Amino acid sequence: MGVVTSAFLRITCILAFALSTRKRLHHLRLPWLTNRRPAGVITMMATSGALILVIEDDPPIRRFLHLTLEGQNYRVLEATTAAEGLRLFGQDSPDAIILDLGLPDRDGLALIKDIRQLSQLPVIVVSARGQEREKIDALDAGADDYLTKPFGVGELLARLRVALRRSADIHRPDRGVLEVGDINMNLDTRTVTVAGKNVHLTPHEYRLLLVLLRNAGKVLTHRQLLKETWGTGYGFETHYVRVCVNQLRRKLEPDQSQPKYIHTETGIGYRFNIEE
Ligand code: CA
Repeated sequence: MGVVTSAFLRITCILAFALSTRKRLHHLRLPWLTNRRPAGVITMMATSGALILVIEDDPPIRRFLHLTLEGQNYRVLEATTAAEGLRLFGQDSPDAIILDLGLPDRDGLALIKDIRQLSQLPVIVVSARGQEREKIDALDAGADDYLTKPFGVGELLARLRVALRRSADIHRPDRGVLEVGDINMNLDTRTVTVAGKNVHLTPHEYRLLLVLLRNAGKVLTHRQLLKETWGTGYGFETHYVRVCVNQLRRKLEPDQSQPKYIHTETGIGYRFNIEE
């Protein structure tokens, strides 16, 4: 209980970061979202009033998540077991799930796999298990993101917003322009510019950048990037991804030693950064 209380207090202490993180995220320019609707409207449509299913057996953390999410105008459903979570998922069609892996009746990992058979809704794992292997397993099973307890509430809310926005626009076509920061990727002409200057990418570099941009803000495992870029026949050649990321950084990053865009998630994979 002592550990739980201290985790709870630590989470509470960083509540103030939520609003500043929210502001930063609004600077994001993702034209595939904005071509059809103004960015501000998308944000409101995708997140305000969204129904979030919290599957967590720890009462203080569950209560805290509930209050935090309600404070951000989300609607909240609570489940304390995997079975109850799956039932509410089927019954109420939530917009996203926040999932604890250590549940009393069943492992959360198995639950992610079941949910992925039925839906692509965002699943964000919050778990006390901080091992890289656990994170990779959850992400490979289909989780959108992973936070280790105790986590910053600002970080959780930011990841949730990114996941909801991505999910609201999951059926975007293979056309148009993707733009983040100085990077502009034109899918019609297959050209990439950085700060207005043309950059030549190999087919694998182009494909990898496309996968990263389409999943901007989300952590992708080495394995996911490998399969998405090289094809489903690949699974273990993760050094291909590392080499290709290094080449992309050389061509895109203002300072390769401190990457602004392609962040390393140590031992897990990469995340295309959309915050400042
Ligand atoms: Ca638990």
